[in-house]
Amino acid sequence: MAKTKRAYVCNDCGADYPRWQGQCSACGAWNTITEVRLAASPTVARTEKYAGYAGATEAKVQTLAAIDLQEVPRFTSGFKELDRVLGGGIVPGAAILIGGNPGAGKSTLLLQTMCWLASQMPTCM
Ligand SMILES: [Zn+2]
Repeated sequence: MAKTKRAYVCNDCGADYPRWQGQCSACGAWNTITEVRLAASPTVARTEKYAGYAGATEAKVQTLAAIDLQEVPRFTSGFKELDRVLGGGIVPGAAILIGGNPGAGKSTLLLQTMCWLASQMPTCM
């Protein structure tokens, strides 16, 4: 069951507040704020909710056998060791979390990687 939302609106200036208060802070009028019940938001189907999110299309249930598993082509970071740790290179669109102790060289490694990548491919589209 959807919870009814309420808002408190000033009858003089139309300012809205999450709670009732005696004086409108926008126009300074006293006792002009009244409660307004807002219509419950329409239920949005889960597939609609996430449509377009991260390139997602309409969700559908499928069996594991129906899923097409393709090896995503990776590109090299320019450093053999980093490529090895990343499982063969950088997956386009992937988010990579780099962790380590302070002073371990995270920023240096990433700056050198970005410099190398910038020299190898267009950096903006
Ligand atoms: Zn007001």
